[in-house]
Amino acid sequence: MSVLVFVEHHGNELQTGSLGVLAKAATLGDVSAVLIGGGVKALAPAAARYGAAKVHIAEDDSLEPPLPQPRVDVLAKIVEDGGYDTVLFANSVLAADIAAGLAARLDAGLNWDLIDVESRDGTLVGKRPALQDSVLIDVGWKATPRLGLFRAGSFDATPKETGQAEIVDVSADYEEHSRSAKVVDREQEQSSGPSIEDADVIVAGGRGLGAPENFTLAEELARALGGAVGATRAVVDAGWYPYSAQIGQTGKVVSPKLYVALGISGAIQHKVGMQSSENIVAINKDANAPIFEFSDLGVVGDLNKILPKLTEAVKAKKGS
Ligand SMILES: Cc1cc2nc3c(=O)[nH]c(=O)nc-3n(C[C@H](O)[C@H](O)[C@H](O)COP(=O)(O)OP(=O)(O)OC[C@H]3O[C@@H](n4cnc5c(N)ncnc54)[C@H](O)[C@@H]3O)c2cc1C
Repeated sequence: MSVLVFVEHHGNELQTGSLGVLAKAATLGDVSAVLIGGGVKALAPAAARYGAAKVHIAEDDSLEPPLPQPRVDVLAKIVEDGGYDTVLFANSVLAADIAAGLAARLDAGLNWDLIDVESRDGTLVGKRPALQDSVLIDVGWKATPRLGLFRAGSFDATPKETGQAEIVDVSADYEEHSRSAKVVDREQEQSSGPSIEDADVIVAGGRGLGAPENFTLAEELARALGGAVGATRAVVDAGWYPYSAQIGQTGKVVSPKLYVALGISGAIQHKVGMQSSENIVAINKDANAPIFEFSDLGVVGDLNKILPKLTEAVKAKKGS
């Protein structure tokens, strides 16, 4: 099995999700990484620390801000020249577009929404949740190359102390159509504190917060705890909080050390996105809310009364 992992970067930071996929792939055997875009050469040593034995570098400033098609050209060349039989991605808007484009280009099978993968008697088997995440099914590929796209947060990205990789420079010819689209504008969402994917603490709000403006209560608690704010789909759909904060089946999968659920009922579609958190604390006024069935600590009461006092207590404890 020869595995290639697309490692995404934003500026000079490698994305945690793709480093997790790289680290997982390294447990299956020798794995190569590919970095494409401006300033990526400097990021190659970091990829080596997450298990890449070889790092393909397609350094090209003109590929920033990123568009998928030129990256499909680069990947197709590396797969064909290097004889890779497996290409893995961590899900993101960019990676999903590239994976789909590469599948079409190479006439390859793409299994998406995977949360794990293993080698069984030399055969690659993917694990994919199905039936609203109530079962986990094994999926395979009929032919090579096989492409796989993993849910965010599927694997821990734990670096090794050291890591050496062979660096290979790549230059690809771009298809004419690949460069005809251009990014005209990009806006960075303002946020202070850690992102949901990286946070050790997540304070998530649901419909029980009562109104969009009450999300400031969740934000204040998150700030006091040094964490990030998450949300349920109900509040995101209602326009109370941005989609990027949605946790669950159709949102992000997270596993922080502490997950504080505020006014969240605990629907299965939310549960699958946060159930692997180390400690779950729920505050809900309904003692029969399903969230209490999988919480480590449950507080039955009204958020509006509990939250301001809880935030004050955390601040006092931290001396801030
Ligand atoms: C295909 C599909 C995909 C989905 N994907 C997702 C997903 O990715 N993520 C997701 O979250 N959902 C998802 N959902 C929606 C999911 O089924 C639930 O509808 C949603 O999670 C409910 O959100 P909620 O807990 O905020 O709201 P509710 O279910 O309305 O719960 C609100 C809770 O707040 C409590 N409450 C009310 N007032 C107070 C108060 N003053 N103090 C304390 N507690 C209070 C109530 O007792 C209640 O338990 C999906 C649904 C479908 C069908």
